[in-house]
Amino acid sequence: MEFGNTINMVEDLAYVGENLDTRREILAAIRRLPVDAKRFALDRCTFTSVGHDIVGMTLPGRIGVHSAERRSRNVWIIVVLDQELGEEFQTTIAHEIAHAWLGHDRCGELPDDCEEQAAKLAKSWGFTGHGADEEKARARDREATQ
Ligand SMILES: [Zn+2]
Repeated sequence: MEFGNTINMVEDLAYVGENLDTRREILAAIRRLPVDAKRFALDRCTFTSVGHDIVGMTLPGRIGVHSAERRSRNVWIIVVLDQELGEEFQTTIAHEIAHAWLGHDRCGELPDDCEEQAAKLAKSWGFTGHGADEEKARARDREATQ
């Protein structure tokens, strides 16, 4: 099956939150991904943001379970801060999808260069800005391993 133009992205996106601008920006970022990463982001990632007027949010555990498989293996929850719309925000979203794509588990073992890997992948997908800047990412990796 060819997913390229047949994905109904608006319906397929799992976004748990109240900010429609953020939801739109997540969709815009996913639209720019290569087809396999696009499918991954829609199938395996649940996105959430806390919003502008609240500082906390309680979410049900089921958002970490695949809707069809009922399992949590290779399911990722991507939390973003509601930000100003634009390239920098879309790059942040792509950068976080890249972490998931690469299997970077914050609760498990992380490669020392995980930030650089994610930035590199986001850049290869055509994103620009902070989250796709390998140099800055390398510096963050160095700070984290000290
Ligand atoms: Zn990162």
